[in-house]
Amino acid sequence: MVCSHSHHEQHNSANAGDRQGDMMLCPQCDMLVRLPPLAYGSKAVCPRCHTVLSSRWDEPRKRPIGYAISALFMLVLANIFPFVNMRVAGLGNEIQLTQIPQVMVAEDYASLATLFMVFVQLIPAFCMLSIILLCGKVRMAPGLKKWMARQLFRFKTWCMVEIFLAGVLVSFVKLMAYGDIGIGPSFIPYCLFCLLQVRAFQCVDRRWLWNDIQPAPHVALPMVPGRTGLRQGLRNCACCGAILPAEQQQCPRCHTTGYVRRRHSVQWTMALLITSLMLYIPANLLPIMVTEALGNKMTSTIMAGVVLLWGEGSYPVALVIFIASIMVPSLKMLAIGWLCWDVKNKHKVKADNERMHLIYEVVEFVGRWSMIDVFVIAVLSALVRMGQLMSIYPATGALLFAMVVILTMFAAMTFDPRLTWDRVSETIKKEP
Ligand SMILES: [Zn+2]
Ligand SMILES: [Zn+2]
Repeated sequence: MVCSHSHHEQHNSANAGDRQGDMMLCPQCDMLVRLPPLAYGSKAVCPRCHTVLSSRWDEPRKRPIGYAISALFMLVLANIFPFVNMRVAGLGNEIQLTQIPQVMVAEDYASLATLFMVFVQLIPAFCMLSIILLCGKVRMAPGLKKWMARQLFRFKTWCMVEIFLAGVLVSFVKLMAYGDIGIGPSFIPYCLFCLLQVRAFQCVDRRWLWNDIQPAPHVALPMVPGRTGLRQGLRNCACCGAILPAEQQQCPRCHTTGYVRRRHSVQWTMALLITSLMLYIPANLLPIMVTEALGNKMTSTIMAGVVLLWGEGSYPVALVIFIASIMVPSLKMLAIGWLCWDVKNKHKVKADNERMHLIYEVVEFVGRWSMIDVFVIAVLSALVRMGQLMSIYPATGALLFAMVVILTMFAAMTFDPRLTWDRVSETIKKEP
């Protein structure tokens, strides 16, 4: 397997303008970059903001298809056998993956059940299927093919397979105090599915895939690498990465409508941020789950869950939940608010772009992990149903919290990172 990621920095060649096929506008900082010829297993990085622009794999078809087919096979296996089981005082309960949403629907939490089905099963399955069909050059109507590719990259952040798996592990730790937890025959296939789908996504390069579907449209404008698209009247298609004239609103390749900069980016981000902030307060005050043990009804909030785990001595898990459910969402909201404020603040003497960019990257990456507590509740409420002895149900706080996570994810997506870079001169800082 060749996957040594050697960094190929781009070189500014003097004779710019020709060979448009090698050019790429950085989606993060809008720098026009000429991609060098890439060796197998290496990737091209933007010289200005260090975003990975494109990576080249040997066997660009066979490899993702292989991973995706195995992933789908594992997903089927994971759904037909028992997933986990629990025994408390002689009473046992065994659940399959498909039972988790069923239990939630039965408990009037159809919305949470839907989230579970969509993020953990449907979206990943759809993405794997699209990878197989698109990389396999299966004969399809071009419209359908383009629609599929559009959705594939849009859905990537919403695949929460690995987060669910982490949620399962956390629920194990939570339940160890009450009874014996065992894994079913489906557990290992699910772990493999998790790994394989991550690999399948890694092996699909957005640029390669779109060029494979249709070559990028030719633009009758001079292109100078090392300068921003904005200065040259060019814009990057947010979906397929094609370079387009700034005034052309619809991309001829993927038919996505776009503008030089995302329209009303800061306003949208702020609106979503304020909404999520308003939901965040009740999400923390209202109970996220109800535990019924021997006739006693006990509700717990997110913070109470952390305190309980800490008190029981499960320090690492208490920390994980604290970081994922309390620290990350609040820091994420602060960071998004700061990014918006920073962009609005145009008269700054020295803009610290590298740091703002790092904040944006971290926010984009960690935001989805806050869903972990929602999945913990899903697993607990499906597994712990022993009637009078002990039962766990989700409560309103969990739904509100899920909405906070989703809204902050949208807020990060509507933010246009190029706005952060627009204020500074576009000279590339040379590596020491
Ligand atoms: Zn860049
Ligand atoms: Zn496009």
